[in-house]
Amino acid sequence: MTVRKEPGFRESVNLMFNRAVALMDLSPGLEEKIRVCNATYIVRFGVRLRGKMHTFTGYRSVHSEHMEPVKGGIRYATSVNQNEVEALAALMTYKCALVETPFGGAKGGLCIDPRAWDEHELERITRRFAYELVKRDLIHPAQNVPAPDMGTGEREMAWIADQYARMHTTDINARACVTGKPLDSGGIFGRVEATGRGVQYALREFFRHEEDKRKAGLSGDLDGKRIIVQGLGNVGYHAAKFLSEEDGARIIGVIERDGGILDPEGVNIERIHAWMQKHGTIKGYADTHFTEDGAGLLEAECDILIPAALEGVINLGNARRIRAPLIIEAANGPVTAGADEILRQKGTVIIPDLYANAGGVTVSYFEWVKNLSHMRFGRLQRRQEEARYRLLIDELERLDRYLGDAWSMTPDFKQKYLRGADELELVRSGLDDTMRAAYGAMREVWHGRDDVHDLRVAAYVVSIERVARSYRSKGL
Ligand code: NAD
Repeated sequence: MTVRKEPGFRESVNLMFNRAVALMDLSPGLEEKIRVCNATYIVRFGVRLRGKMHTFTGYRSVHSEHMEPVKGGIRYATSVNQNEVEALAALMTYKCALVETPFGGAKGGLCIDPRAWDEHELERITRRFAYELVKRDLIHPAQNVPAPDMGTGEREMAWIADQYARMHTTDINARACVTGKPLDSGGIFGRVEATGRGVQYALREFFRHEEDKRKAGLSGDLDGKRIIVQGLGNVGYHAAKFLSEEDGARIIGVIERDGGILDPEGVNIERIHAWMQKHGTIKGYADTHFTEDGAGLLEAECDILIPAALEGVINLGNARRIRAPLIIEAANGPVTAGADEILRQKGTVIIPDLYANAGGVTVSYFEWVKNLSHMRFGRLQRRQEEARYRLLIDELERLDRYLGDAWSMTPDFKQKYLRGADELELVRSGLDDTMRAAYGAMREVWHGRDDVHDLRVAAYVVSIERVARSYRSKGL
């Protein structure tokens, strides 16, 4: 396959899907059933604001219902269109299958510039959008569960959850109709940071495997690795923060919509983030290292490139000039199918989106389960665990007294050991386990088959096989 003309996002996802199914033994009918998007709903609604009626266009696309509910974020951006929402919904199907969350794939979007409206106006628009979707069961705890995506966050999810509850006053599971909610509206510890945290865990797992690092020409661990991140929003900020604070990586570049900063000595992510929160732009921060041509920094020399903003940023136009030996797709679809081919030929290793940014849906799954069980994780067993640990510690202390100087516990061992895990620790443990297991499944195909040469195809093969099995078991 040679891609000469830049494909659209939906086409790009299809081309990647095609590369994988060409290596699989699916019947043509089943292959087509998995590829197509089941339904896309377009809603147009009016909201009276600033003295006049404004009409908004929103989408909710359901790619596959082999498992329900279907799951996928809601994006607020002016670029939202049917093609984009369908591509993102398809990615959700493959992502959920890869990380074994029991959902089909969906996605939603509202064509809007969220920065053009104040909070009160956004609430009215969001509630009205939610109303349109809820009344068609396109938001429902058992059928269709949205989450945050670009341009939305906890605040919007809380409005959506409340709107659903008002329209279903006797639904005891109402809170499970949407994930990514604030804690006081039924959210879960660790959801806000989850996608960035997942990127960190994915990189840690990659760096555990010598053979995989060698393919990218890298060695050692994350300590000191030079990273450039594009998009300092929810995903990019958390990934950059954790990788620099906890793994010793050096963030040398940050690319935003209106420029970028490159400093080989390393930048301070917290300070840039605080600046952006205050000024709404990266402009004006550290003039010496600032450039208006943010996108140009994608081509700068570094060890790891993290596109965490939007799709199509690495394309036929710049792929040949990308110097990073390792790209981790924190955003959905940042590398087009054409660029993917060029980068593969160059030997660039790409950790694909359907794996790399699956931390969000993984913790959303935990939140949904928490909402359905009506209890926070750890509530039943935490203190019981602590009591059992206490038993062991008491026994060790008895031995300690008996053995005297010959044996003793390190000072903070007792304190650390005696603490039962709280919800945040359990969420992190579940996320880490999920990212490791999914990497293992991809890796087995990547290294185990002669006809699979990259992680993306490996990821698609694993996912499509799981979706196919689910359809087959239903008799399709
Ligand atoms: P966000 O809105 O919080 O942040 C996006 C950031 O990218 C913003 O800072 C924005 O200014 C910046 N940006 C926009 N256009 C840009 C451009 N042309 N160049 C450089 N920067 C640009 O969004 P997010 O939730 O962090 O999502 C980012 C990506 O991650 C999207 O592709 C989304 O689909 C994907 N994703 C998000 C989640 C999640 O949990 N939020 C989960 C999985 C995947």
